[in-house]
Amino acid sequence: MNNIAVIGSGTMGNGIAHVFAQYGYQVSLIDISEDALKKAMATIEKNLNRQVEKGSITAVVKQQALAHITTSTSVKDIGQADLIIEAATENIDLKLKIFKEMDEAAKATAILATNTSSISITKIASVTQRPAQVIGMHFMNPVPVMKLVEVIRGYSTSNETTEAVMELSKKLEKIPVEVNDYPGFVANRILMPMINEAIYSLYEGVAGVNEIDHVMKLGMAHPMGPLQLADFIGLDVCLSILRVLHDGFGNPKYAPCPLLVNMVQAGHKGVKSGNGFYQYQPGSKELVVAERFR
Ligand code: NAD
Repeated sequence: MNNIAVIGSGTMGNGIAHVFAQYGYQVSLIDISEDALKKAMATIEKNLNRQVEKGSITAVVKQQALAHITTSTSVKDIGQADLIIEAATENIDLKLKIFKEMDEAAKATAILATNTSSISITKIASVTQRPAQVIGMHFMNPVPVMKLVEVIRGYSTSNETTEAVMELSKKLEKIPVEVNDYPGFVANRILMPMINEAIYSLYEGVAGVNEIDHVMKLGMAHPMGPLQLADFIGLDVCLSILRVLHDGFGNPKYAPCPLLVNMVQAGHKGVKSGNGFYQYQPGSKELVVAERFR
């Protein structure tokens, strides 16, 4: 496998393209938006520069990585790719449409992967003519830093496809973990109920925002409290993943906390809107109000 295509050049897509290019793969980065592609290339260059400054890669590796990436606005440009990773907006209808297009444009041997956080791999595979070659490749944010790749086997994913993706992830010096396709997979099935419970604790007045986050940071050695993590992920994203868990299992334990629903309806989405459980400087992850326990 030498040629990789990445569809969607946002937060995750540019990180995935970065890592493959850094490890010598030829990458075609595709987005419907020219502007998004320009921003993605600028982000990749900035992040590669940071790695050079830290001494984790050389300036030569940086130049080679940039030279390995080409950009395009057409999904049809995936014909050479051995693996196509879809990292477009989290919307089921959009992903089904993209997978139909990918299936038509990709060569017969190509593996079609998705970076979805919550949509069923089996459902996505069902709109293609090659369900055995469809798989989840769930990178974590920020992709160049985080070691985990949650490799999700759909109902029809073959052993060969799974092994190929596990091996490839190791070549990127990532640690792949194989899981099966059920709502939330493993990462979000465990993380989102914890975040929801933290929000319920706030909603029921058990403790305040700082108190809840500090109990989890200092008591459980979490690098960030669950409420701040929710702000970083996006409260709208947390809500939509909880709805996937709630619908998928039909179990009331996954019902999103009414406070989360209200906050999203009010446009308080966390870092991206500048306000969530904390307030942020516009366009940054810096807190406006200093945390009391710092
Ligand atoms: P994003 O909004 O930053 O980027 C999505 C990109 O997809 C945009 O640039 C948009 O222009 C592009 N796009 C939309 N329709 C397209 C189309 N038809 N063809 C090509 N490109 C198209 O989103 P993101 O945060 O990078 O998330 C991408 C995927 O990764 C989602 O499935 C999300 O659930 C998953 N994910 C996100 C995170 C995270 O922390 N952000 C973590 C793990 C997984």
